[in-house]
Amino acid sequence: MSSDRERLASACPTQHPPSTVQLAHGGGGRRMRQLIEGVFLPAFANPTLLARHDSAVVDVVPDVTSRGRVALTTDSYVVKPLFFPGGDIGRLAVFGTVNDLAMAGARPLHLTAAFILEEGLALAALRRIVESMRDAATEAGVAIVTGDTKVVDRGKGDGVFITTTGVGLVPPGVDIGPHRVQPGDAVLVSGDLGRHGIAVLSVREGLAFASPIESDCAALASCVAALLAAGVTLHCLRDLTRGGLAAALNEIAMDANVGVLLDEPAIPVSEPVRGACELLGLDPLHVACEGRMTLMVPAASVERALATLGSGAARIGQVVEAHPRVVVLKTGLGGSHTLDLLAGEQLPRIC
Ligand code: MG
Repeated sequence: MSSDRERLASACPTQHPPSTVQLAHGGGGRRMRQLIEGVFLPAFANPTLLARHDSAVVDVVPDVTSRGRVALTTDSYVVKPLFFPGGDIGRLAVFGTVNDLAMAGARPLHLTAAFILEEGLALAALRRIVESMRDAATEAGVAIVTGDTKVVDRGKGDGVFITTTGVGLVPPGVDIGPHRVQPGDAVLVSGDLGRHGIAVLSVREGLAFASPIESDCAALASCVAALLAAGVTLHCLRDLTRGGLAAALNEIAMDANVGVLLDEPAIPVSEPVRGACELLGLDPLHVACEGRMTLMVPAASVERALATLGSGAARIGQVVEAHPRVVVLKTGLGGSHTLDLLAGEQLPRIC
């Protein structure tokens, strides 16, 4: 559609529905209603959302047998590009927040979603993102119960930014966090590292690898539920997003005032990711994942945890009393060095 026709459509909202996001879509009028009824409501349909009230009113204790504490988390997603191998911003916006709930041992229940749309974004792209969020929410067992839409002028956004807030229920007796980490705990990872960061970077930089690298973007809640059901004692969980494994372990080491000693050869990194990292001068231990976590568990729970996590998981090190607040990497050659936090971000706009 030409820009003249777009302007006309915007001025006369009953005719020629536009194919891109218009400022009027955020204006609170008929166009906004059309956007909500044409794109968001059909995808996210559930009784709470369809009540169309100013607030979603939900049960945080979903049935009479459930008890527990409420977990709350919020996150914004600004990944560039919006679509990448193995995922898109919508999938990320659901799984990222669901995973933060899961890291507290919570069963995710409800999500809210706020969209900041840039004028000119193709409605077909928005629809694709929203449908991807619907599918991800179904996969993760959560409902998107309320939301918000704002539109900013062309050039003042990057297509779409999404903020999701999650509510979950932590079962009685479950207490997971850095305060429980202690020397002697084993350090595990749930799978191979770095695929999300490299998948996003490959599109952004126009790189083609011999074997395409797909994002590891996935929900971790069912995995955490399975670990709890198997009777695994979980001291701490952390999803490996921005800053990768190195950031997660440094944060936990500092918050728990312990040392972490890693066995580099045991850390799973796929050959394509390792190759891409070498090519790009990146360290896979700093590259973001979106469907991987690190776990700190007592030695007695290691075998059961690894069996529940499946074949991709690995024991990569242990929590130690020596060198508190420092992560040390033992290399395959018998040497060792400190694994630091980076000063900034190795790969900006990755989630
Ligand atoms: Mg997190």
